[in-house]
Amino acid sequence: MTTVDPSKPYDPDNIFAKILRGEVPCNKVYEDDHAFAFHDINPQAPVHILVIPKGEYVSWDDFSAKASDAEMAGFVKAVGHVAREQGLPVRGYRLLANIGRNGGQEVPHLHVHLFGGGPLGPMLAG
Ligand code: AMP
Repeated sequence: MTTVDPSKPYDPDNIFAKILRGEVPCNKVYEDDHAFAFHDINPQAPVHILVIPKGEYVSWDDFSAKASDAEMAGFVKAVGHVAREQGLPVRGYRLLANIGRNGGQEVPHLHVHLFGGGPLGPMLAG
């Protein structure tokens, strides 16, 4: 597993950038001006969706430091919208953002994992 190096600048050739540009296919769930959502290719729960900002941000750290208020508001609203659209708030769900090496982040474009569809077990495994 290769994890994200926070000292490196945004890589426009990362897999999620390619998905945003339509160069790599995905199972799309939602799109608006600020965000894009699609099913994770290797689901870890009955529902496992990734929500990403359209802007070039490596991680939550990068995003929270540099994104505009409109981008931040748009992204947060999109995450909530996707969860509601999937019917997840009724029984509950989980959000997760891995950041950098200790977080185990593999793709260097900010993404929030949205897990649901059943009991999710303990917050951290192992
Ligand atoms: P993270 O470890 O937080 O960086 O998670 C990266 C996630 O991206 C993993 O859950 C992968 O299964 C998922 N992933 C990688 N490539 C793709 C892809 N082409 N389409 C959908 N999900 C992907």
